[in-house]
Amino acid sequence: LTQSTPQLLVASGNLSRKSPHPYPSPLTVVRINELISCALDSNSRGWHPGTAGNFSVREGSDRCWISPSSVHKGRLHWRDFVPVDLQSNISLRTHGRAPSAETALHTAIYRFDPKASAVIHAHPRAVTSLIHHQQLFTNNELIKVFGFKNHEDTIQVPCIPNTQDMSALGQELPKQIDLQSRVFVLENHGVYAWGNSPSEALYRIEALEFLCQTALELAQR
Ligand SMILES: [Zn+2]
Repeated sequence: LTQSTPQLLVASGNLSRKSPHPYPSPLTVVRINELISCALDSNSRGWHPGTAGNFSVREGSDRCWISPSSVHKGRLHWRDFVPVDLQSNISLRTHGRAPSAETALHTAIYRFDPKASAVIHAHPRAVTSLIHHQQLFTNNELIKVFGFKNHEDTIQVPCIPNTQDMSALGQELPKQIDLQSRVFVLENHGVYAWGNSPSEALYRIEALEFLCQTALELAQR
């Protein structure tokens, strides 16, 4: 009975306890597959060297499903995604693949922005090499992707010093999160973006990478 009715397990709330084989809801499987489509796109641009980066989608108010640690981002399958409790950052699965090492940053975003449905972390080359604390962008049409009305507005992308201490990052994050731009950079590391869908998260990274590439090209003139 248990194996043939996975949705009942979800509906009954049993995922709040650890379970050997928790299943995502059918709608969550659709969202994970949309996320994987974005991962293939992102990976094809060279933003995930050496299995870097991670992807997640929210399911309800208390959990997300996140890509497993150390899996190439061109070879993800929805069954590999790991359910994680948003408050504790702990996997809700008793065995199988471990969640991404950067899970705490995803869960912090979901806690801070209740409308966040998907989070993507990537390592685009221009973002990683250019953005530092004082980096400003202005007079570029793509600034409007981050919620500004005018291309002449100025955006300063939140930038957090990189560290391996995930709990310290999780504490720093709420001070830096901007609910309008829905993007931040880990200095000399990469970028996190989120949105109401996986595609929305991806296009924020795409726009920021374009802004950085343009700024680097202008600096070389
Ligand atoms: Zn990373």
